[in-house]
Amino acid sequence: MEILLGKNLAEIQAITRKLAMPDFTAKQIAQWIYAKRATDFEQMTNISVKNRELLAENYIIGRKNYDLVTTSADGTQKYLFNTKNGFVETVYLPETDRNTLCISCQAGCKMNCVFCMTGKMGFSGSLFSSEIINQILSVENSEKLTNFVFMGMGEPFDNTAQIIQAIDVITSPWGLALSPHRITVSSVGIMRGMKEFLEKTDCHLAISLHNPFHEERFAMMPIEKAYPIEKIVTELKKFDFSHQRRLSFEYIMFDGINDTQRHATGIVKLLRGFPCRVNLIRFHKAEGVDYQSPSQEKMEWFRDYISNNQLICTIRRSRGEDISAACGQLKTEQNQS
Ligand code: SF4
Repeated sequence: MEILLGKNLAEIQAITRKLAMPDFTAKQIAQWIYAKRATDFEQMTNISVKNRELLAENYIIGRKNYDLVTTSADGTQKYLFNTKNGFVETVYLPETDRNTLCISCQAGCKMNCVFCMTGKMGFSGSLFSSEIINQILSVENSEKLTNFVFMGMGEPFDNTAQIIQAIDVITSPWGLALSPHRITVSSVGIMRGMKEFLEKTDCHLAISLHNPFHEERFAMMPIEKAYPIEKIVTELKKFDFSHQRRLSFEYIMFDGINDTQRHATGIVKLLRGFPCRVNLIRFHKAEGVDYQSPSQEKMEWFRDYISNNQLICTIRRSRGEDISAACGQLKTEQNQS
């Protein structure tokens, strides 16, 4: 049966019209599914019994429980969800002032970045907006969520339409009614999807930089061949990031690989004068990946050099490393069996 979860108001309206229900029913259904997190039509008590039965005969809401949750010593939780294309992981990051959910958009990933466990899984398929929204609604602390980052498994702009649809659900008044400024989408920089996302949403963007030099970035991230970082930056300069929308460049640091003075200078040269920030991320050891993380002192020196050259630069705190929930560590064994 057709799933309602992940649909926008216009799509639900088309359904209520087809079923000869009053127009206002569509908004009621959307509010029950998203704001009130209903899992069954029976819970929709302001909709007539006849219409609830009609819905149940033709549709399902489509919520699915997670299969497993693991909790880190630092409170981070990693959830495992089964989707039509295999298992995906979702990470809940509680902090004193915010609760962030790191969402997956694909089962596996095609991008094959050499340092990433998800990339090593290969690609099983893209998630529907229903499967993206289900991650948000089905974690234990769903109602406490304040921020969302599309930094889990997969490349968002290899699944742009479903990402934009999910963002519509999160930000619309009939949906979860949260500000687009609570959402950050992270990408290696697939140009077409990136432009569509920037034109259609007001969410923040994070670009995976990891190396300012073409040949070296290509050795780490094959996508550099199709979308060189210099061209991405040139394209991004056509958009306005001077106000509420934030642009950041993510930089995973690998000892002796991309943490030298030359790299720091290269980053400054690439980004100086552009309203953006650089987030440094310590590399988290991953099975089969022959890189090491630099020392804290090295990372601080790198940060200070960039900060002293008119760019905002921070070191991101690592979370959930003990349960393999940290950046670059997401990988579902179940997909490989
Ligand atoms: S880092 Fe992101 S884009 Fe690269 S392989 Fe991993 S999930 Fe895919």
